[in-house]
Amino acid sequence: MQLIQSTKLSNVCYEIRGPVLEEAMRLEAAGHRILKLNTGNPAAFGFDCPPEILEDVLRNVGSAHGYGDAKGLLSARRAVMMHYQTLGVETDVEHVYIGNGVSELIVMAMQALLDDGDEVLVPAPDYPLWTAAVSLSGGTAVHYRCDEQSDWMPDLADVERKVTDRTKAIVIINPNNPTGAVYSDDVVRGLADIARRHNLLVCSDEIYDKILYDGATHTPTATLAPDLLTLTFNGMSKAYRVAGYRTGWMVISGPRAHAASYIEGLTILANMRLCANMPAQHGVVAALTGRQSINDLVLPGGRLVEQRDTAYELLTQIPGVTCVKPKGALYLFPRLDPKVFKIKDDRQMVLDLLRAEKIMVVQGTGFNWPEPDHFRIVTLPQASDLADAVTRIGRFLDGYSQP
Ligand code: PLP
Repeated sequence: MQLIQSTKLSNVCYEIRGPVLEEAMRLEAAGHRILKLNTGNPAAFGFDCPPEILEDVLRNVGSAHGYGDAKGLLSARRAVMMHYQTLGVETDVEHVYIGNGVSELIVMAMQALLDDGDEVLVPAPDYPLWTAAVSLSGGTAVHYRCDEQSDWMPDLADVERKVTDRTKAIVIINPNNPTGAVYSDDVVRGLADIARRHNLLVCSDEIYDKILYDGATHTPTATLAPDLLTLTFNGMSKAYRVAGYRTGWMVISGPRAHAASYIEGLTILANMRLCANMPAQHGVVAALTGRQSINDLVLPGGRLVEQRDTAYELLTQIPGVTCVKPKGALYLFPRLDPKVFKIKDDRQMVLDLLRAEKIMVVQGTGFNWPEPDHFRIVTLPQASDLADAVTRIGRFLDGYSQP
């Protein structure tokens, strides 16, 4: 008898590590060198762990081999709480949950919330774990459109149109993956107004809040809408470059009395997985209270700026390719003009690119973008490597069309 996967997975997709990666690994095993531009993993491109974080983790690792508190190490949760209180978010240590990365907390937040058929508003394009987590939890992700013509800002009228009596939450990803958009306070207030009018839980994924370019500023959603129950997600993977430590946090703020049952559900799920990686949690205090070395990387002349600029300039020189210049995060999400490129299946397009040029990017539909006319590339490699990669992408795209 065949062992068949659960129907719970029927609509669950995560193309960032999907079949294209399998093909990339097959090519690697056959001896090819593949430049993998699919994941936002700073360590893979030579970014080091800030020394003060490493020092605290190493100092404590010898005594961090036991299970800890399910919500997280108290010192780590206190540091998260104080960080958010300083930013103006009203919360307390009992409402901070540490997880094995933001990823685990996203899944927990959706599992605790959704019954079959409940809906969650999720941006398109999105970081696809959000859509996947909603589906896995029995819900339906209803995508609201972000508008490329308006620097990828959420289309508020579209958000409003998509609310139904099954809608339970709205997801905001700001700064955005994959577009690099950083929302103005007015846009966030507009999203919050919709949440307020329809009693929606606000889930604000702010993992790129410190990766900002060209003087862009980021305001936590929770400070713009303190009257709304808000879950703020953030962690160590990006700004602190330790994605492998699997450490993220979720902060609950706003009026909590009416959400006691939901919060209890979150605690049950936290208890069930016992605790998050303990050694890595010892790095949280140093991360949040120490020198923010990420700032050196995003200021003018910083490595991340230089890389974004190189990739952006070369990509937009390719005939038929346009791109909104990202104001934050670690990606570009260029558009392939359908008048120039005949692409029906964008996963096939990235497979063709992989086989021809040994470069792996992720197709736009992998981010729940509805048309096969975008792809995402990470801007983490050194500028010279990015320049080489983009030149090869241009060579591949020249005359590319599918039968
Ligand atoms: N949220 C967004 C928007 C991301 O881009 C990522 C990772 O790329 C995550 C969450 C997951 O991060 P973590 O490593 O903390 O699980």
